[in-house]
Amino acid sequence: MRSEKVLVLTCAELYTPLEVIRPATIRIEDGRILSIREERAAQGEDLGESLVAPGFVNVHVHGYEGHDATSGEVEPLLSLARTLAHHGVTAFVPTTVTAPHETLLAAAKATAEAMAAQGDSPKGARILGLHLEGPYISPERRGAQNHEFIRLPDWKEFRAYWDASRGHIRAVTVAPELPGAFSFIERAVALGVVVSLGHTNASYEEAKAAIAAGASRATHLYNAMPPWHHRAPGVVAACLESPQVVVELICDLVHVAPPMLRVAWRLAGSLRTALITDAIAAGGLPDGTYTLGGLAVEVKGGVPRLEDGALAGSTLTMDQAVRNAVDIGIPLREALIMASLAPARACGEPTLGLLRPGCPADLVVLSREDLSVQRVYVGGRRLI
Ligand SMILES: [Zn+2]
Repeated sequence: MRSEKVLVLTCAELYTPLEVIRPATIRIEDGRILSIREERAAQGEDLGESLVAPGFVNVHVHGYEGHDATSGEVEPLLSLARTLAHHGVTAFVPTTVTAPHETLLAAAKATAEAMAAQGDSPKGARILGLHLEGPYISPERRGAQNHEFIRLPDWKEFRAYWDASRGHIRAVTVAPELPGAFSFIERAVALGVVVSLGHTNASYEEAKAAIAAGASRATHLYNAMPPWHHRAPGVVAACLESPQVVVELICDLVHVAPPMLRVAWRLAGSLRTALITDAIAAGGLPDGTYTLGGLAVEVKGGVPRLEDGALAGSTLTMDQAVRNAVDIGIPLREALIMASLAPARACGEPTLGLLRPGCPADLVVLSREDLSVQRVYVGGRRLI
């Protein structure tokens, strides 16, 4: 007997995203993909000329539309999950800023509670766990992180966050040159946490040693790290040349110049390049003055900056990041990999960011003309 929960969608083009299938029919049962065939099925919903791709996975986002991932409360996280879905996101890793101990503890606890509240049928993008951006970072490369709360790696403190999150710390951004960073990295990796190198002044050698110790990601490559110099290759070259490292890129065309985005993508390839937004709670709101981690942020023309001029996250969305990547000459298939499969792998989710039988039916329907988001499904349930 046929299940009630079968959904059939037929479309002009489907990105798995590794392959492109034209035309395609996707069958979904009980929230998972049952089959994908190269045909236009007579039954089911016809999506016309639209294209289907895996829902976007954002592994670095601090907030959006007033909802702040560092608030320490459950409701803003659930609201953030709903609001991000409007931009094609079906899974994300809420990211804290460098903050006092009690604030991070509350954020870790709230993340676990929000994940429990979402359960198996989320009404927004799936919350995958927490990304702690700091507090174990370099004061010299703090960017828009609050200087007051930066500290040295502290395993006992981190374990408190781990316990408060009920084991849902997905990633931690660390500067490997700090005293104690190496044993911290080894322990975090042993716990299954993704260690991302960022807000760092590390030399090439220090970064390579951190990668050997298990670090597997670069937090917003180029930003908040020493510039790439031919006699001082630094953390940028170390991450780009290491096959086990996925590099995050803020593709708002403000944080990184387009040629540098293309160079990173060419060197690392799309499977090792994750588009992120690094968006803050002021994203999606009018220009004005907001706060981030206790610091005043002025948003002007959609670009948030601290008083000293430092960029303070972004107001970017994942769908815009994909459009920007395509606009600067990165092929659509590659841009879609960078927005789905690469970030899913970068946070240890082998069944997300991929349309394949058995995988959760998390997908985005995009217009072929302007790549605008038309529909979003999470676990086979239509959200948008
Ligand atoms: Zn950030």
